[in-house]
Amino acid sequence: MALTVREQVSLAGYTTLGVGGPAARFIDAGTDDQIIAEVRDADATGEPVLVLGGGSNLVVADEGFPGTVVHVATTGVSTDPGHDGGVTVAVAAGEDWDRMVERCVAEGLSGIECLSGIPGLAGATPIQNVGAYGQEVSETVVAVRAYDRLRDTTVTLANAECGFGYRTSAFKRSVGQRRGRAALDAAAATGRFVVLGVTFRLSRDPLSAPVRYGELARMLGLGDGGRAPLADVRAAVLALRRGKGMVLDPADPDTRSAGSFFTNPVLDRGQLADVQRRAAAKTGRAAGEVSVPHFPAGDGQDGRVKVPAAWLIEQAGFGKGYPGDGGARISAKHTLALVNPGGPGGASSASLVGLAREIRDGVRQAFGVDLVNEPVLVGAEL
Ligand SMILES: Cc1cc2nc3c(=O)[nH]c(=O)nc-3n(C[C@H](O)[C@H](O)[C@H](O)COP(=O)(O)OP(=O)(O)OC[C@H]3O[C@@H](n4cnc5c(N)ncnc54)[C@H](O)[C@@H]3O)c2cc1C
Repeated sequence: MALTVREQVSLAGYTTLGVGGPAARFIDAGTDDQIIAEVRDADATGEPVLVLGGGSNLVVADEGFPGTVVHVATTGVSTDPGHDGGVTVAVAAGEDWDRMVERCVAEGLSGIECLSGIPGLAGATPIQNVGAYGQEVSETVVAVRAYDRLRDTTVTLANAECGFGYRTSAFKRSVGQRRGRAALDAAAATGRFVVLGVTFRLSRDPLSAPVRYGELARMLGLGDGGRAPLADVRAAVLALRRGKGMVLDPADPDTRSAGSFFTNPVLDRGQLADVQRRAAAKTGRAAGEVSVPHFPAGDGQDGRVKVPAAWLIEQAGFGKGYPGDGGARISAKHTLALVNPGGPGGASSASLVGLAREIRDGVRQAFGVDLVNEPVLVGAEL
């Protein structure tokens, strides 16, 4: 496939938030060789590189991006039945994630059904260990094939080498690591590894994996850890997500977001008690009378807990629909999503980041907790 290089391409049209200035160079790369060649050439000349998927987890500055944007456009899904009821599914980085989930559900492959409706491309799913409704890709990823910019070679990383954690991975953490050009890479927001393909191990099973998310289990009429037909789980997840503006819909301005803007903070018991004390003080009640929602942060977290960022934001005075200056606002359907309701040409990136900063500072002042952004910021910082 011939490569077309375009100049001064507005990135607002390539992000779900609809914000961001122009890329100096923009390339649609339809093969692995094209992706690698573009990234390698840019690295050789010291030009910043941004690898772009569906743009659903990106906040690009109004100034745009001063280097090369490599838009991943590779395709291909192959399945390989094993002998133990498992099926290996290898997917090219440029495949649409939700179409891939839909296909697996239709083919009776269980393990990613709760990840229905998440926008973006398959190649981006390992970057922040995409997760929703009690599932994360780290549970089914077997290997990630990637171009290693540091060693200038293609590598295959097994699951254990991917460094998966809550909304993070070795891929996300490697931004700014390579060749000591930290400043350029931090601006580029793409790390050491360019994902070329992801291999999943799914079960051939008409039923879902055990449903561990209360709201979803209730909707399906299941007890905790119960299982339901794959198509039912997908339909229930999509319905729940639509109600929160978390499925892209051109007719719904509340979906013009980057999903959740902040991760749920992980707190130790002392920090939780402090939040409880501050929440009580706000309402003039005793600490014991106020209950702060929290749930276990997971294995290896030493008893620490996650507190819903949405609860902290609401309690700090930022409700659904809260308007920032300049057109950006909190979604009317979900406190965690910041939206640009007008789409490209509506709110500026600066005003959206300004709203995020206002919320972050308000939560810090009210509860002493530092919220961390989930989307990747390109040329901007909170
Ligand atoms: C409405 C909505 C709902 C969402 N719901 C969820 C949710 O439930 N759970 C969740 O986890 N996320 C959610 N998200 C966030 C987002 O959809 C995911 O993070 C998604 O995986 C991003 O994919 P993308 O292709 O759009 O990546 P992009 O936004 O294009 O890129 C994100 C980052 O990954 C890097 N990147 C992308 N592709 C590659 C690659 N091939 N190799 C190396 N680096 C790469 C980019 O350089 C950038 O740093 C939601 C977003 C929206 C808009």
